Amino acid sequence: MAFQADKGRAMRIGLYIHIPFCSFLCHYCDFAKTANYDSILVQDYFTALLNQFRVMTRHLERTSGRPVSFSSVYFGGGTPGLFTTEYTSLLSAVYEHLDPDAEITMECNPKNLNQNALDAWKAMGVNRLSIGVQTLHKKGLEILTRDHDASTALRALELAMHSIPSVNMDLIYGWPGQGADDWVSDLQQLVNSGVPHASLYSLTYEDRTPFGRMARRGKVRPEADEALADRYVAAREILGDAGFEHDEVSNWARSGFTCRHNWVYWDFKNFLGIGAGAHGFLPAAKAADGMATSRIDYVVDDAIDIGMRYSFPRDVRTFLRRAPDSASADSLTAVVRELGGEIDEGRDQDSALIEYVGGALRTRHGIDLAFCEKITGQIFSPRPLLIEALKRRVAWRDGSRLRFDPAEWFRENSWASEVLLSF
Ligand code: SF4
Repeated sequence: MAFQADKGRAMRIGLYIHIPFCSFLCHYCDFAKTANYDSILVQDYFTALLNQFRVMTRHLERTSGRPVSFSSVYFGGGTPGLFTTEYTSLLSAVYEHLDPDAEITMECNPKNLNQNALDAWKAMGVNRLSIGVQTLHKKGLEILTRDHDASTALRALELAMHSIPSVNMDLIYGWPGQGADDWVSDLQQLVNSGVPHASLYSLTYEDRTPFGRMARRGKVRPEADEALADRYVAAREILGDAGFEHDEVSNWARSGFTCRHNWVYWDFKNFLGIGAGAHGFLPAAKAADGMATSRIDYVVDDAIDIGMRYSFPRDVRTFLRRAPDSASADSLTAVVRELGGEIDEGRDQDSALIEYVGGALRTRHGIDLAFCEKITGQIFSPRPLLIEALKRRVAWRDGSRLRFDPAEWFRENSWASEVLLSF
């Protein structure tokens, strides 16, 4: 049956597309990725992505009776910047469902960035680039096992900013041996580069990575929390003085350059995720397959709902083996399973609230207390520590929002439990 719906009532959501291929593997990285691939595997992968995109979008439209319109598209990886023409068919399909002013971000590494690639991405409609610089310090780049040097990264940034309206620089702090001065120097070079958006992450030692193994064996010692907190303070000071607005604990933007796709995640809005290792967060479909998903059965407008979270297999070959060309199921959860995905079945109102509060607390928008009251059925009644924080203006009420001072975003864990216990 052909889809018919009122175009004015579109379901506006984000789209995340995972590209798991890398030309080298960094020893700290825990993303779904492989450096072991050839052109046939890449072709098969893009075909599977297109199928998955079509099946899921069609299903969302059919069950909601509304057209799906993507307000943002994010190509994450892996290294999406390794490819150009490979995106043609997929993007043609995406364009049928795109907001006219959609933000389209492509992640890339400095070494893949050249004028030909930039021209191709621009022609595809990419209007935002996120560049994995990580550090401009020679020793840091070696320790992080990156394959570029500082001058390549700076040249890539300059080239990118001439072609694409919005550019982000990723930096990592807390790498072994990084001194406070090294970090300040990275931040100053970021400011001097003129890049309008910065994502700054502290190095983590994930179990599945070589860095995680080295930490377990005592071969490397993760930076102390106090030192990481000092790096955060330095970032706030230097980027704040340079006129950046602090959007979220790890993200800063000059006026007009905030990342709209990030706000989909932080504001708990829905997004379709496709590809190996991709996660998605969609409206909780009516439990046609018997799974209780949500107290709010099916919310398909822009309002926040607790929704359904799912993920696809991280391994590319497993992903391809499990990805059929079509799906016949009539509920969203069953479609995800037919496509080889897994539903987060343990998720309920309590866990959704923990997710939401922990994430929103660390953002400029803060926590929507009315939404929390809707989920819990309880009125917000701040506990003594929170009352004290409100008195000291460490936190403040703004309509139905509870916001925290950015200095506190780094201590999200302690405040999240205070907020959660206040319902
Ligand atoms: S950090 Fe980026 S380039 Fe390095 S392995 Fe991970 S996804 Fe690939």
